[in-house]
Amino acid sequence: MPIKFPSFRPRRDAYPADLWTKCPSCSEMLFNRQLQKSLRVCPNCGHHFRMSAAERLALLLDPGSFEERDANLQSLDPLGFVDQKPYPDRLTAAQLATGLRDAAVWGFGRIEGERIAVCVMDFGFMGGSMGSVVGEKVARAAEAALAERLPLVVVSASGGARMQEGTLALMQLAKTLAAIERLRAARIPYISVLTDPTTGGVYASFAAVGDVNLAEPNALIGFAGARVSAGTIAAELPPGFQRAEFLFRHGFVDRVVPRAALRKELALLLRYLRPPALVTEATEEEGAAALGLPAFRPLSFISELADRVLADGRSDEEEGTEPTPAGATARPAGATTPASATSTVPATDPPPVAPSRPAETTAPAKATEPANSNGPALPPDQAAVWERVQLARHLRRPRTLELVDQLADEWLELHGDRLFGDDEAVVAGLARIDGRRVVVVGHQKGADTEENIRRNFGMPHPEGYRKAIRCFELAERFGLPVLTIVDTPGAYPGPAAEERGVAEAIARAIAAMTRLRTPIVTVIAGEGGSGGALAIAAGDVVLALENAVYSVISPEGCASILWRTADRAPEAAVAMRMTAAEQLELGVVDAVIEEPPGGAHLDHAETARRLRPTILAHLDALAALPAEELVERRYRRYRGMGAFTEAAAEPVAPGRPSLAERIRGLIEAGRQSLAAPGRVFTGRPGGRQDDETSG
Ligand SMILES: [Zn+2]
Repeated sequence: MPIKFPSFRPRRDAYPADLWTKCPSCSEMLFNRQLQKSLRVCPNCGHHFRMSAAERLALLLDPGSFEERDANLQSLDPLGFVDQKPYPDRLTAAQLATGLRDAAVWGFGRIEGERIAVCVMDFGFMGGSMGSVVGEKVARAAEAALAERLPLVVVSASGGARMQEGTLALMQLAKTLAAIERLRAARIPYISVLTDPTTGGVYASFAAVGDVNLAEPNALIGFAGARVSAGTIAAELPPGFQRAEFLFRHGFVDRVVPRAALRKELALLLRYLRPPALVTEATEEEGAAALGLPAFRPLSFISELADRVLADGRSDEEEGTEPTPAGATARPAGATTPASATSTVPATDPPPVAPSRPAETTAPAKATEPANSNGPALPPDQAAVWERVQLARHLRRPRTLELVDQLADEWLELHGDRLFGDDEAVVAGLARIDGRRVVVVGHQKGADTEENIRRNFGMPHPEGYRKAIRCFELAERFGLPVLTIVDTPGAYPGPAAEERGVAEAIARAIAAMTRLRTPIVTVIAGEGGSGGALAIAAGDVVLALENAVYSVISPEGCASILWRTADRAPEAAVAMRMTAAEQLELGVVDAVIEEPPGGAHLDHAETARRLRPTILAHLDALAALPAEELVERRYRRYRGMGAFTEAAAEPVAPGRPSLAERIRGLIEAGRQSLAAPGRVFTGRPGGRQDDETSG
């Protein structure tokens, strides 16, 4: 099939300088034109080269059928993130290189005549990493599929969540899963195509949960990057670890499909999996009722949604007040390594959780020492943030069981996921707090080395998340509210966790929370480490203890990728704005609860005493809401997370104008869009209480 794509600009596809490509698998020198003709599959060994979004769409869709939507969505820089270079510069460079505004393209198209909503990712754009724009496009594609009763096909190629957007990138997991979950409820088919690579937060969200999951041969698919697993876990990796065939063998992929057969297979699947579109009135109403939506009115649904999002954007004035001391200091100087961190797979990996690190944190005396205690003292801004990270990791910090012990009058722990085992890194049970019956689910680290080994340093395996899901559903069935308590460095990145589908378990847990018809209050009590934290943190209300931290990747992981050394973790901690107070500013957290002087580890009873009234007030307020409203509010909470704008101008100019002209054009486009306050989306539109008044 000729690779030709008329409706939007592909990357510069002429490489006159290099006519040949060396196959990384068999080392054969391949003539580029021949490689294009063979769908970028090595004719010698079958190695599947990566494809751009345009090439992928041309491969899968009927010629000329693609209608792109939202081409001009563009990321903002909500964190003021700077490593070797400012995030906006990275975006500009990626835009110039790919001709895309961000790492995903969505629209409508046809496969053998069958109309679908389709979203494809482009690894060439910052490693296909998912920030606000990618999350938004996946969510919009899913919402359009729902509104128009069309099957959804998403082709993933991504290293994971985008570090430069911090927890707002992490929140895209919940945003996309919430939208996909509505498709499931309405019986709209969703086919996930996993290509090389699909890792981290993308695999741990929408990519893992297709009605049917297809994968290209030998594609790297996994939660943690293979290098992370190999480097941090002292275990031999099984053969073919994290490859499509490995996933297939362990039951997480339906079919491994060679590229040449992909379009045919999709067409075949689409003929079986049909939306119940407009078959009968009854079906329609049933579907709408399941979603808690008014009767099916696709256009009004979309326009209401747009109104809501637009109306909830912050005003210019608020925008101006946003920069904080922390934001100002989030610009470390003197970083010189010209590493293009996010253009490689590990760049967007989930937190590489080193088992050696918890051992370091077992020394309470280290709590307030800087990471580089042998080196020079940290600058004050870094020292302040790093002290909080150390407090969040303090060995004596109250965990779920310690807090429940103080909060509850009664506690009955429940065990097991009914599938594999009982994960002691996650505890769950029934509690009575001030006369209210509550299901509690939380992470549990150990208070000493022995207990830490038993509880795997609070790093759950998949069975921990499946136990959580089981208890969420138990709560829903018996009308009990849920209290979740978060304190984990991240999900366990080892081979056993991958084999049993840790990413899938995380995705299912987040998805379950987005649809749960009972109140959920979440407390970030210690470390909120990436997807492994969010898996039990997608609550209606998210509270944080004063010294808790929340981030898309561990500061050590972030520093290893961006500065090539974990020693610069304090810098990364500042750049990611991971403290509770900063998360409050970003709208990821709703309230911060002050800790006793010196930190929660010094007085568990007082910490619980300070938490109790806020938890109870929120539980009571949420309990008063009808279930439909509760679920709709929660949907809107995560649906609105992100910071992006709709650029007015056309995508990046073609080859003609000079580089300088193109950069000038981009800057101008950014300025124009920023000047229009109504079009700037940032943070979460509206809070729990104020979204009525803002709309
Ligand atoms: Zn080859």
